[in-house]
Amino acid sequence: MTSHRPASNRVGQVKEVTSLANPLVKDIRALAQKKFRDQQHAFLAEGLKLVIDALDLGWTIRTLVYSKAGRGNAAVERAAARTVAAGGLVLEVSEKVLTAITRRDNPQMVVGVFEQKLMPLKAVAPEKGDVWVALDRVRDPGNLGTVIRTVDAVGAKGVILIGETTDPFAIETVRATMGSVFAVPIARASQDAFLAWRRDHLKAMLVGTHLKGAVDYRSVDYAHGPVVLLMGNEQQGLPEALAQACDRLVRIPQAGRADSLNLAVSTGVMLYEIRRAALSLEARA
Ligand code: SAM
Repeated sequence: MTSHRPASNRVGQVKEVTSLANPLVKDIRALAQKKFRDQQHAFLAEGLKLVIDALDLGWTIRTLVYSKAGRGNAAVERAAARTVAAGGLVLEVSEKVLTAITRRDNPQMVVGVFEQKLMPLKAVAPEKGDVWVALDRVRDPGNLGTVIRTVDAVGAKGVILIGETTDPFAIETVRATMGSVFAVPIARASQDAFLAWRRDHLKAMLVGTHLKGAVDYRSVDYAHGPVVLLMGNEQQGLPEALAQACDRLVRIPQAGRADSLNLAVSTGVMLYEIRRAALSLEARA
Protein backbone atom coordinates (compact mmCIF):
# COMPACT_ATOMS: atom_id res chain seq x y z
CA MET A 1 0.00 0.00 0.00
CA THR A 2 1.29 3.49 -0.86
CA SER A 3 2.00 5.76 2.11
CA HIS A 4 0.50 9.26 1.96
CA ARG A 5 2.82 10.49 4.71
CA PRO A 6 5.27 13.31 3.89
CA ALA A 7 8.71 11.92 3.01
CA SER A 8 10.25 13.40 6.15
CA ASN A 9 7.68 11.61 8.32
CA ARG A 10 9.09 8.24 7.35
CA VAL A 11 12.32 9.15 9.09
CA GLY A 12 10.48 10.45 12.11
CA GLN A 13 10.86 14.20 11.52
CA VAL A 14 7.15 15.02 11.63
CA LYS A 15 5.41 14.60 14.95
CA GLU A 16 1.70 13.92 14.93
CA VAL A 17 -0.11 15.73 17.72
CA THR A 18 -3.79 15.52 18.55
CA SER A 19 -3.81 16.41 22.25
CA LEU A 20 -4.08 19.93 23.64
CA ALA A 21 -2.14 18.65 26.65
CA ASN A 22 0.97 18.01 24.55
CA PRO A 23 3.78 20.22 25.98
CA LEU A 24 4.84 21.41 22.50
CA VAL A 25 1.29 22.57 21.84
CA LYS A 26 1.13 24.22 25.26
CA ASP A 27 4.31 26.19 24.49
CA ILE A 28 2.94 27.34 21.14
CA ARG A 29 -0.42 28.31 22.64
CA ALA A 30 1.41 30.32 25.30
CA LEU A 31 2.70 32.57 22.50
CA ALA A 32 -0.71 34.27 22.61
CA GLN A 33 0.66 36.07 25.69
CA LYS A 34 3.35 38.75 25.42
CA LYS A 35 5.15 37.44 28.53
CA PHE A 36 5.77 34.10 26.81
CA ARG A 37 6.56 35.67 23.45
CA ASP A 38 9.26 37.69 25.20
CA GLN A 39 10.54 34.66 27.15
CA GLN A 40 10.65 32.43 24.08
CA HIS A 41 11.72 35.30 21.81
CA ALA A 42 9.25 33.88 19.30
CA PHE A 43 5.93 34.61 17.60
CA LEU A 44 3.27 33.01 15.43
CA ALA A 45 2.48 33.66 11.77
CA GLU A 46 -0.53 32.09 10.09
CA GLY A 47 -0.82 30.91 6.51
CA LEU A 48 1.33 29.00 4.05
CA LYS A 49 2.15 32.05 1.92
CA LEU A 50 3.35 34.01 4.93
CA VAL A 51 5.49 31.12 6.12
CA ILE A 52 7.09 30.68 2.69
CA ASP A 53 7.70 34.46 2.37
CA ALA A 54 9.30 34.49 5.83
CA LEU A 55 11.58 31.58 4.95
CA ASP A 56 12.53 33.28 1.67
CA LEU A 57 13.37 36.46 3.57
CA GLY A 58 15.70 34.56 5.91
CA TRP A 59 13.61 34.47 9.09
CA THR A 60 14.40 31.60 11.43
CA ILE A 61 11.57 29.10 11.80
CA ARG A 62 11.41 27.07 14.99
CA THR A 63 8.26 25.07 14.37
CA LEU A 64 6.00 24.48 11.40
CA VAL A 65 2.51 23.37 12.33
CA TYR A 66 0.08 22.08 9.72
CA SER A 67 -3.32 20.46 9.86
CA LYS A 68 -3.97 16.96 8.58
CA ALA A 69 -5.58 18.60 5.53
CA GLY A 70 -2.08 19.74 4.53
CA ARG A 71 -0.79 16.21 4.31
CA GLY A 72 0.32 15.45 0.76
CA ASN A 73 0.21 19.13 -0.28
CA ALA A 74 3.47 19.71 -2.19
CA ALA A 75 3.95 23.29 -0.95
CA VAL A 76 3.37 22.26 2.66
CA GLU A 77 5.84 19.41 2.27
CA ARG A 78 8.44 21.77 0.81
CA ALA A 79 7.95 24.17 3.74
CA ALA A 80 8.25 21.19 6.12
CA ALA A 81 11.47 20.06 4.46
CA ARG A 82 12.91 23.61 4.71
CA THR A 83 11.94 23.72 8.38
CA VAL A 84 13.70 20.43 9.10
CA ALA A 85 16.75 21.56 7.11
CA ALA A 86 16.86 24.73 9.25
CA GLY A 87 16.84 22.61 12.42
CA GLY A 88 13.17 23.27 13.20
CA LEU A 89 10.39 20.98 14.26
CA VAL A 90 7.38 19.95 12.15
CA LEU A 91 4.04 19.11 13.76
CA GLU A 92 1.06 17.59 12.00
CA VAL A 93 -1.91 18.42 14.17
CA SER A 94 -5.65 17.91 14.35
CA GLU A 95 -8.07 20.71 13.41
CA LYS A 96 -8.89 21.03 17.13
CA VAL A 97 -5.24 21.73 18.00
CA LEU A 98 -4.84 24.26 15.18
CA THR A 99 -8.03 26.05 16.25
CA ALA A 100 -6.70 26.23 19.81
CA ILE A 101 -3.29 27.55 18.67
CA THR A 102 -4.75 30.30 16.49
CA ARG A 103 -7.83 30.92 18.67
CA ARG A 104 -9.86 31.03 15.48
CA ASP A 105 -12.59 28.91 13.95
CA ASN A 106 -11.61 27.84 10.44
CA PRO A 107 -7.89 28.41 11.00
CA GLN A 108 -5.34 28.51 8.19
CA MET A 109 -3.85 25.14 7.26
CA VAL A 110 -0.33 26.20 8.27
CA VAL A 111 1.16 28.14 11.17
CA GLY A 112 4.82 28.96 11.72
CA VAL A 113 6.63 29.78 14.95
CA PHE A 114 9.43 32.22 14.14
CA GLU A 115 12.22 33.85 16.10
CA GLN A 116 11.62 37.52 16.80
CA LYS A 117 13.96 39.99 15.10
CA LEU A 118 14.36 43.70 15.84
CA MET A 119 16.90 46.12 14.47
CA PRO A 120 18.96 48.21 16.91
CA LEU A 121 18.12 51.92 16.58
CA LYS A 122 21.80 52.80 16.18
CA ALA A 123 21.84 50.74 12.98
CA VAL A 124 19.11 52.93 11.46
CA ALA A 125 20.96 55.39 9.22
CA PRO A 126 18.56 56.80 6.61
CA GLU A 127 20.16 57.72 3.30
CA LYS A 128 18.99 60.05 0.55
CA GLY A 129 15.52 59.09 -0.61
CA ASP A 130 14.83 56.89 2.41
CA VAL A 131 11.70 57.27 4.53
CA TRP A 132 11.25 55.80 8.00
CA VAL A 133 8.14 56.01 10.16
CA ALA A 134 8.51 56.56 13.91
CA LEU A 135 5.44 55.75 16.03
CA ASP A 136 5.07 57.25 19.48
CA ARG A 137 3.46 54.79 21.95
CA VAL A 138 1.19 53.16 19.36
CA ARG A 139 -1.45 51.24 21.25
CA ASP A 140 -3.64 49.48 18.74
CA PRO A 141 -2.32 46.27 17.07
CA GLY A 142 -4.52 46.93 14.02
CA ASN A 143 -3.01 50.40 13.60
CA LEU A 144 0.54 49.12 14.00
CA GLY A 145 -0.02 46.24 11.58
CA THR A 146 -1.63 48.54 9.02
CA VAL A 147 1.25 51.03 9.28
CA ILE A 148 3.81 48.23 8.76
CA ARG A 149 1.85 47.03 5.73
CA THR A 150 1.62 50.57 4.31
CA VAL A 151 5.35 51.20 4.88
CA ASP A 152 6.02 48.05 2.89
CA ALA A 153 3.59 48.99 0.11
CA VAL A 154 4.93 52.51 -0.36
CA GLY A 155 8.56 51.37 -0.35
CA ALA A 156 9.55 53.10 2.87
CA LYS A 157 12.45 51.60 4.78
CA GLY A 158 11.18 50.68 8.23
CA VAL A 159 9.43 51.52 11.46
CA ILE A 160 10.78 52.85 14.76
CA LEU A 161 8.67 52.17 17.84
CA ILE A 162 9.05 54.79 20.57
CA GLY A 163 8.21 54.16 24.22
CA GLU A 164 5.66 51.62 25.47
CA THR A 165 3.92 50.30 22.39
CA THR A 166 1.72 47.41 21.44
CA ASP A 167 3.74 44.32 20.52
CA PRO A 168 4.72 44.08 16.83
CA PHE A 169 4.79 40.29 17.30
CA ALA A 170 1.27 39.92 18.74
CA ILE A 171 -0.86 37.69 16.54
CA GLU A 172 -3.33 40.55 15.87
CA THR A 173 -0.49 42.81 14.71
CA VAL A 174 1.06 40.12 12.54
CA ARG A 175 -2.36 39.43 10.98
CA ALA A 176 -2.87 43.11 10.21
CA THR A 177 0.54 43.34 8.51
CA MET A 178 -0.58 40.66 6.00
CA GLY A 179 3.01 39.38 5.93
CA SER A 180 4.77 42.75 5.77
CA VAL A 181 6.13 42.17 9.29
CA PHE A 182 8.70 39.94 7.59
CA ALA A 183 9.67 42.57 5.00
CA VAL A 184 9.87 45.73 7.11
CA PRO A 185 12.70 46.26 9.62
CA ILE A 186 11.49 47.37 13.04
CA ALA A 187 13.57 49.19 15.65
CA ARG A 188 12.49 50.01 19.18
CA ALA A 189 13.64 52.73 21.59
CA SER A 190 12.59 54.67 24.65
CA GLN A 191 11.67 58.31 24.08
CA ASP A 192 15.01 59.39 25.61
CA ALA A 193 17.00 57.01 23.40
CA PHE A 194 15.10 58.22 20.32
CA LEU A 195 15.80 61.86 21.18
CA ALA A 196 19.49 61.15 21.80
CA TRP A 197 19.72 59.30 18.45
CA ARG A 198 17.95 62.17 16.74
CA ARG A 199 20.38 64.69 18.30
CA ASP A 200 23.63 62.77 17.81
CA HIS A 201 23.16 60.57 14.76
CA LEU A 202 20.17 61.35 12.60
CA LYS A 203 20.93 63.04 9.30
CA ALA A 204 17.39 63.35 8.04
CA MET A 205 14.44 65.73 8.17
CA LEU A 206 12.27 64.82 11.16
CA VAL A 207 8.68 65.60 10.19
CA GLY A 208 6.12 65.40 12.98
CA THR A 209 2.38 65.29 12.41
CA HIS A 210 0.26 67.30 14.79
CA LEU A 211 -3.31 68.53 14.89
CA LYS A 212 -1.89 71.94 15.81
CA GLY A 213 0.84 71.78 13.15
CA ALA A 214 1.53 75.17 11.63
CA VAL A 215 2.20 73.85 8.15
CA ASP A 216 -0.05 72.14 5.58
CA TYR A 217 1.51 68.71 4.88
CA ARG A 218 1.46 69.40 1.10
CA SER A 219 3.63 72.50 1.36
CA VAL A 220 6.80 70.81 2.64
CA ASP A 221 9.56 69.81 0.23
CA TYR A 222 10.21 66.20 1.22
CA ALA A 223 12.22 65.44 -1.86
CA HIS A 224 15.63 66.50 -0.58
CA GLY A 225 17.24 64.15 1.83
CA PRO A 226 15.86 61.32 3.89
CA VAL A 227 12.73 61.76 5.99
CA VAL A 228 11.72 60.35 9.36
CA LEU A 229 7.96 60.75 9.73
CA LEU A 230 6.89 60.95 13.37
CA MET A 231 3.32 60.00 14.30
CA GLY A 232 1.65 60.54 17.67
CA ASN A 233 -0.17 58.26 20.08
CA GLU A 234 -3.84 57.51 19.29
CA GLN A 235 -5.22 59.21 22.37
CA GLN A 236 -2.70 61.91 23.25
CA GLY A 237 -0.90 62.79 20.04
CA LEU A 238 2.79 63.74 20.20
CA PRO A 239 4.20 64.80 23.58
CA GLU A 240 5.95 68.18 23.78
CA ALA A 241 9.49 66.70 23.89
CA LEU A 242 8.98 64.83 20.62
CA ALA A 243 7.11 67.69 18.94
CA GLN A 244 9.94 70.11 19.79
CA ALA A 245 12.54 67.79 18.28
CA CYS A 246 10.89 67.97 14.85
CA ASP A 247 12.20 70.07 11.96
CA ARG A 248 8.61 70.50 10.76
CA LEU A 249 5.22 69.95 12.39
CA VAL A 250 2.64 69.40 9.70
CA ARG A 251 -1.14 69.13 9.69
CA ILE A 252 -3.47 67.34 7.30
CA PRO A 253 -6.43 69.68 6.74
CA GLN A 254 -9.80 68.29 7.75
CA ALA A 255 -13.39 69.24 7.02
CA GLY A 256 -16.40 68.05 8.97
CA ARG A 257 -16.76 67.19 12.62
CA ALA A 258 -14.06 64.53 13.14
CA ASP A 259 -11.40 65.91 15.47
CA SER A 260 -8.62 63.84 13.92
CA LEU A 261 -7.83 61.15 11.40
CA ASN A 262 -7.07 57.58 12.41
CA LEU A 263 -3.34 57.04 13.03
CA ALA A 264 -2.84 54.47 10.26
CA VAL A 265 -4.88 56.49 7.76
CA SER A 266 -2.92 59.68 8.44
CA THR A 267 0.35 57.73 8.15
CA GLY A 268 -0.80 56.47 4.73
CA VAL A 269 -1.74 59.96 3.57
CA MET A 270 1.67 61.29 4.66
CA LEU A 271 3.67 58.44 3.14
CA TYR A 272 2.04 58.79 -0.26
CA GLU A 273 2.59 62.56 -0.22
CA ILE A 274 6.27 62.05 0.62
CA ARG A 275 6.54 59.45 -2.14
CA ARG A 276 4.83 61.77 -4.62
CA ALA A 277 7.44 64.43 -3.85
CA ALA A 278 10.28 61.96 -4.42
CA LEU A 279 8.76 60.77 -7.70
CA SER A 280 8.26 64.30 -9.02
CA LEU A 281 11.93 65.05 -8.22
CA GLU A 282 12.99 61.97 -10.17
CA ALA A 283 10.80 63.06 -13.09
CA ARG A 284 12.47 66.50 -13.13
CA ALA A 285 15.99 65.01 -13.08
N1 SAM B 1 -6.39 63.46 20.41
C1 SAM B 1 -5.17 63.24 19.71
C2 SAM B 1 -4.42 64.56 19.56
O1 SAM B 1 -4.85 65.54 20.15
O2 SAM B 1 -3.39 64.62 18.89
C3 SAM B 1 -5.48 62.61 18.39
C4 SAM B 1 -4.40 61.74 17.93
S1 SAM B 1 -4.61 61.08 16.33
C5 SAM B 1 -5.86 59.92 16.50
C6 SAM B 1 -3.15 60.11 16.22
C7 SAM B 1 -2.06 60.70 15.40
O3 SAM B 1 -2.44 60.70 14.03
C8 SAM B 1 -1.69 62.12 15.70
O4 SAM B 1 -0.83 62.25 16.79
C9 SAM B 1 -1.01 62.52 14.41
O5 SAM B 1 0.28 61.98 14.35
C10 SAM B 1 -1.87 61.81 13.37
N2 SAM B 1 -2.96 62.66 12.87
C11 SAM B 1 -4.27 62.37 12.88
N3 SAM B 1 -4.99 63.34 12.26
C12 SAM B 1 -4.08 64.25 11.84
C13 SAM B 1 -4.17 65.48 11.11
N4 SAM B 1 -5.34 65.96 10.69
N5 SAM B 1 -3.03 66.15 10.85
C14 SAM B 1 -1.83 65.68 11.23
N6 SAM B 1 -1.69 64.53 11.93
C15 SAM B 1 -2.79 63.83 12.22
